[in-house]
Amino acid sequence: MSDTQQKVNLLGLSPAKMEEFFIGLGEKKFRAQQMLKWIHQMGESDFTKMTNMGKPLREKLAQVSEVALPEVVYEDFSKDGTRKWVMRMPGGSAVETVWIPEKDRGTLCISSQIGCSLDCSFCSTGKQGFNRDLSVAEIIGQVYVAAMSFHEAGERRGGKITNVVLMGMGEPLLNFDNVVDAMHLMMDDNAYGLSKRRVTLSTSGVVPMLDKLGDLIDVSLAVSLHAPNDELRNTLVPLNKKYPIKVLMESVNRYLGKLPDKRKATIEYTLIDGVNDGLEHAKQLAQVLRDTPCKVNLIPFNPFPNSGYKRPSNNRVYRFRDALIAENYVVTIRSTRGDDIDAACGQLVGKVEDRTRRSERYIKVVSLDNPQEGQQL
Ligand code: SAH
Ligand code: SF4
Repeated sequence: MSDTQQKVNLLGLSPAKMEEFFIGLGEKKFRAQQMLKWIHQMGESDFTKMTNMGKPLREKLAQVSEVALPEVVYEDFSKDGTRKWVMRMPGGSAVETVWIPEKDRGTLCISSQIGCSLDCSFCSTGKQGFNRDLSVAEIIGQVYVAAMSFHEAGERRGGKITNVVLMGMGEPLLNFDNVVDAMHLMMDDNAYGLSKRRVTLSTSGVVPMLDKLGDLIDVSLAVSLHAPNDELRNTLVPLNKKYPIKVLMESVNRYLGKLPDKRKATIEYTLIDGVNDGLEHAKQLAQVLRDTPCKVNLIPFNPFPNSGYKRPSNNRVYRFRDALIAENYVVTIRSTRGDDIDAACGQLVGKVEDRTRRSERYIKVVSLDNPQEGQQL
């Protein structure tokens, strides 16, 4: 390989691509499993320490590949135990990853893109516009960094991450291949070994991609609905004009039908004061969801500057919840976590001081209860 050729970043190779890589080097497939363990379970990025690889192979690896890790700008801890990491990605943008501890689990919320092109009216990421897709290494790198920080604190590597949700910045289905590869890594026993039920992809409803997803992977699904009729959803989630509610829900049903086990979708519904939080909306929602095995996760709107929307009162939130419960739905309310470190859901919250260039970067963080296993209220 000449100096001008880029080295392969092994951090971002899915299990299948890692095998291809080693076969390309004239090695046996089991080397892929060894490498995945070194990187993702042992946190080792130095080839010279990978003693089960043999010296000639280690030298070859160093010539053609590397394990390039994300740069952590800072780490923050909330009083309630929530943690967040700000990572700088090549090109200078910052991405935040949030870890939310609960009684019997730890949920890591990660991003799939820098910004988002879908422009939902209540979402600060959407308001920032689209910057670029994250690579597989940048997506799995967020899990790596969180796992590593627990490891350094004396915990079992990865042991505190029981769930991963793709609910940070970006629309995961619009960065399809990279997201699928990263999720395969999360679920691989030689990497993070998470169960498919504990990896959740959240989408605003990119129907063709959702149909494709079910042919490739069987992770849990969260759907950002936010409105019970097309007229209203068109104003909140512009993508609805392309894939209206009925078309979306049929696709959700097809996805659930492809899963090898019986699982429900999580319907996410951000409650915005006076916009979609009326009793009539709750009743309509109950009708719309009639044919879909699901539970509903209500997210009181998190305000950000110039959004033009307000968070409803607790009474309105409870009233909405109770109306759905009366229709026999399982409903959770997502609590706001990590407020003191600006880690609340969907908020444009942070400015990261870049000490080297003294510029400011804006980031978004998301915090949530796990929608799959949220406490039933
Ligand atoms: N693009 C994907 C995943 C990222 S958004 C999606 O839309 O599903 C993750 C969740 O945060 C979505 O349910 C989204 O609706 C919610 N969200 C975004 N902005 C919010 C805000 N200001 N307040 C509350 N929830 C918000
Ligand atoms: Fe994008 Fe999701 Fe925000 Fe909509 S809610 S703009 S799809 S990140």
